[in-house]
Amino acid sequence: MTLQNFLLHHAQRMQYCFVIEHFQVSFLEVRRLGAIFDILVDYEYLDAVIRYGSQVRKLWDKGDKEEILGALAHELTHILTGNITDGLAQTVKLRKRDEQTTEHISRLLYRLYKEKK
Ligand SMILES: [Zn+2]
Repeated sequence: MTLQNFLLHHAQRMQYCFVIEHFQVSFLEVRRLGAIFDILVDYEYLDAVIRYGSQVRKLWDKGDKEEILGALAHELTHILTGNITDGLAQTVKLRKRDEQTTEHISRLLYRLYKEKK
């Protein structure tokens, strides 16, 4: 299985588990990326593009799927939390709280996802 197929496969299953399967999620590998993943969500067209860079590629080569999946769950959770914060003036404080809340919810959802496997 390729990394891209692995990501698509788990994203689809996670979307179902997280009840966000109405979003069209696609992946884009970029060489230089500051974060492990980032996501751009279009709430009007229910479409999201998740970009990943060399960090994910390195984890994949090491066989560290758990780390990739935890981070993927976080990114998909941004689809939920971003619906509240999208379009708001992103102060440093709000961005930090958004990240913390996103991480907390993603851990809950990822725990459910792992139990369903
Ligand atoms: Zn995040």
